Amino acid sequence: MQIVKTVAAFKRLRSAWDDQRLTVSLVPTMGALHAGHLSLLSPAREADRVVVSIFVNPTQFGPHEDLQRYPRPLEQDLCLLKARGVDAVFLPSASEIYPEGYRTIVTVEELSSRLCGVSRPGHFRGVATVVLKLFNIVRPHRAVFGQKDAQQTVILRRMVRDLELDVELIVQPIVREADGLALSSRNQYLNPEERKPATVLFRSLEFARLESLQGESRTGVLLRGVRELIESERLARLDYAEIVSTDDLSPLDEVTAQALLALAVFIGRTRLIDNTFLHKSLIDSSLPPG
Ligand code: AMP
Repeated sequence: MQIVKTVAAFKRLRSAWDDQRLTVSLVPTMGALHAGHLSLLSPAREADRVVVSIFVNPTQFGPHEDLQRYPRPLEQDLCLLKARGVDAVFLPSASEIYPEGYRTIVTVEELSSRLCGVSRPGHFRGVATVVLKLFNIVRPHRAVFGQKDAQQTVILRRMVRDLELDVELIVQPIVREADGLALSSRNQYLNPEERKPATVLFRSLEFARLESLQGESRTGVLLRGVRELIESERLARLDYAEIVSTDDLSPLDEVTAQALLALAVFIGRTRLIDNTFLHKSLIDSSLPPG
């Protein structure tokens, strides 16, 4: 497995792959890898070469967010990736991605200011900027993302269409703990007392999903139930709960085939996100492992 730390070196490797007419997949991550990240490798392997990037992107963190304390277990991450046959890890420093004088940002308008964009202004332009930059360095034929970050996938899809990027986006289902908690690098911040209350996100999603399956299609009614469940959990504080269309993140009055229920909830000081599709045809992706 090659570990590449500079843009110039990565571009050289990429040109060599071009000469051999190899196809390339990219899995962008911020490291602290868990089974959710590793699940993204399966569709990535359909290309001849698999690249994983590990970059804790400073521009997607707000001034009072967890950039400094974000976990960085690099040796462990590299072992996991090597054992899974990844061909190259792109591991740039912040100054490699944003050198002195860097001034360009990518903003996907409107979609970036909804849902998580309300409490994390600037987050998605950081994401769009770094992903476009990674696409230009790695030039992947396919890039794999997780449904866990549902808004991110909608925004990146829009960016790929709007800017005519020749990359196929693949979105993989959410990987969960046995009790339903979606795997996240930030779960490490939860103390033992907070771990069980953190399942309130999944329990609320399941409540709405089952109500919807049983015929409740009014999103106002579903959201009321979700909010009540979250408010009943002592350590939980709701940031938002919304039912939106996955096409453009606009709020829906009725459950449709595109209906996505998205949540952000503080458990103590840790902000967790989760989501589920509500329509019968799409719900399988929200189920925890057997
Ligand atoms: P991150 O390192 O948090 O930026 O995540 C890197 C990629 O892994 C993103 O595309 C995430 O959506 C995806 N991911 C994170 N957690 C999960 C999960 N529990 N299941 C599936 N994909 C995930």
